[in-house]
Amino acid sequence: MNAARYEDGKVQIHDLPVPEPQPDEALVHISAAGVCHSDLHLAKGDWTAVGAVSLIGHEAIGVVESVGAEAARFVGVGDRVILGLGSAGGTHWCGACEYCLGGSPRHCANARPILGTFAEYFPIWAPSLVNLPEEVDDLEAPLACGGLTAYGAVKKLTKHGVVPGRRVAVIGAAGGLGHYAVQMASAFGYEVIGVDMGADRLDFARSMGAADAVEAADAVGALTADGGLDAALVFTPKIAGFELGLNVLRPGGLFVGVGLPPTSDGPIKLDPFTLLYKDPTVVYSAVGTVQDMRELVNLVAAGRVKTHVSRTGKLSELGAIFDELGAGAYLGRAVVDDLAN
Ligand SMILES: [Zn+2]
Ligand SMILES: [Zn+2]
Repeated sequence: MNAARYEDGKVQIHDLPVPEPQPDEALVHISAAGVCHSDLHLAKGDWTAVGAVSLIGHEAIGVVESVGAEAARFVGVGDRVILGLGSAGGTHWCGACEYCLGGSPRHCANARPILGTFAEYFPIWAPSLVNLPEEVDDLEAPLACGGLTAYGAVKKLTKHGVVPGRRVAVIGAAGGLGHYAVQMASAFGYEVIGVDMGADRLDFARSMGAADAVEAADAVGALTADGGLDAALVFTPKIAGFELGLNVLRPGGLFVGVGLPPTSDGPIKLDPFTLLYKDPTVVYSAVGTVQDMRELVNLVAAGRVKTHVSRTGKLSELGAIFDELGAGAYLGRAVVDDLAN
């Protein structure tokens, strides 16, 4: 089978044996795989805490080709599924530790990552798969990480007491994750203010349902003039976006960090007087749970959320797609869609 690896500073396509599923795994014939900004950071070793990896790709839709002996009670051959936990959330969790039982399997010590979905076949822990209705197209593959991560972040609003009707900022509103969050938070009834850079990206955020969109450079002045926002969801992988998120809040507001800037950007500057006057609740959100994925699939099937795909390409074009993504060339997402051909 064809499979991509990131080696010697570039994407390389190899002809590898089709993997055998373990007893608790299903082998999925991939139809489409989304290109996440995390793939780029992971391949280039931008996050020193994680290191560089050659296995790339962690969001995909496909059809179950075969199942291990213990996997048949979760999925069957021919099922169309989404591989839904992203790289940081893992595809396996123990189900019995304090974190798993508390609904945060991301913190499970036994969690394992999904890595390597830019391939024709991929073996995966069967309980992590979610079946797809026919209304959800193969090009919705970026839901697997990008969509799920945005959904998990938007759900933090209700978890931390920000009720529908309140004003919330989505920072990085036109990006791969932000464009989902604008749709989701709007669908939940929040008044969404998209923050991004450039007229095209602000128009795009409005077209996704944002009540208003403001230029990042103007955001603090424009959004704090009447007291500030109830929450800021920060999707942009830039430290400046994190600082902006804290600065647009009203006193007592909620800060939800999501994007992961390169380690070379350094830490967030946090003025103790900002803490004194703003008294913010600061949380981080990464990926989501399998139950979140099921809810998200239902929202997509109902037409409430849709992936904006601005580029499709062949596996052989993945290197070029990485370059374009690194240059910030896309609104929304890019998808590799020839893996089942
Ligand atoms: Zn656990
Ligand atoms: Zn991702």
